[in-house]
Amino acid sequence: MKPFIYDFTLEELQAWAVEQGEPAFRGSQIFEWIYVKRVNSFEEMTNLSKALRQKLDDQFQFVTLKEITKFESKDGTVKFLFGLHDDHAIETVIMKHNYGNSICVTTQVGCRIGCTFCASTLGGLKRDLTAGEIVAQVVKAQQILDERGERVSSIVIMGTGEPFENYDNTMKFLRLMIHEKGLNIGQRHITVSTSGIVPSIYKFADEGTQINLAISIHAPNDALRSKLMPVNRRYPFDDVMEALRYYQAKTGRRISFEYALIGGVNDQVEHAEELASVLKDMLCHVNLIPVNHVPERKYVRTSRNDIFKFQRALADQGINVTIRREQGHDIAAACGQLRAKHMESNAR
Ligand code: SF4
Repeated sequence: MKPFIYDFTLEELQAWAVEQGEPAFRGSQIFEWIYVKRVNSFEEMTNLSKALRQKLDDQFQFVTLKEITKFESKDGTVKFLFGLHDDHAIETVIMKHNYGNSICVTTQVGCRIGCTFCASTLGGLKRDLTAGEIVAQVVKAQQILDERGERVSSIVIMGTGEPFENYDNTMKFLRLMIHEKGLNIGQRHITVSTSGIVPSIYKFADEGTQINLAISIHAPNDALRSKLMPVNRRYPFDDVMEALRYYQAKTGRRISFEYALIGGVNDQVEHAEELASVLKDMLCHVNLIPVNHVPERKYVRTSRNDIFKFQRALADQGINVTIRREQGHDIAAACGQLRAKHMESNAR
């Protein structure tokens, strides 16, 4: 199979051009066609010679994301289920905010982390996406937004998969997204969310980027976290917190903690108080996410009243906390639900 053109950095494309006996700036022209003019074929790169376009076509391919389904929510959220070249399906979401459009991308087909409240985990991990397959989701979203003169203003890596288990491809994707000659997305407008893969948190801290880090914490202690997230047995709660303290000391960046509220499991005031005592010395923000019902699990939604009580208990301890504005609730927008439905109907 030919490699994906989106898998290559500017420098790699320049080196490729030189290998073909062309000046390095041809690589820059290719990069511009891909990310600034956003074409979908080599044929359209009209300032390159026909021979060079042919060489590109012989050696590379574009990532094709075939739209299997698309759901549009009343709130402007659009959720796509895209088919890849090998018939796997992935989800990408465009969310409309008053400050712009944010894109939620997927980094793996399926996931092996096994969070008990998540539909993405149900079929296990099928494979990692390449950097280019992650890039393609943003380029596709930008092409859709181009039609109405808007741009991707932020990216969240919170779709299916654990980005820190696909670390190198995720980092390559990030470097492509922030490249000033490409889509040029501001580093502070990108958030990577991890379930707490400790060695990768240390690596990420040392990368020297300004990209935001979010942690799916979901519990205030080791025992409860292990019940909700099996990954906690591999990387225990205290080790995750220690890695985060290292990250914060190294980068000075505020950390976001994602906390899925599950009715009667982790959503009581005592949980909030325990969490507050763990986080009290950290520069952080807690994002509360009332879970959607996953039919395969027996979890129920936290009542509105309990959500506000939980929020107040954290705020009273001086913790910066918000409740995630639910987007696309009417279109099964929670992570992995669309793909899970698709897998189910294919299996019938
Ligand atoms: S929440 Fe994220 S890390 Fe956990 S199983 Fe779902 S996709 Fe994987």
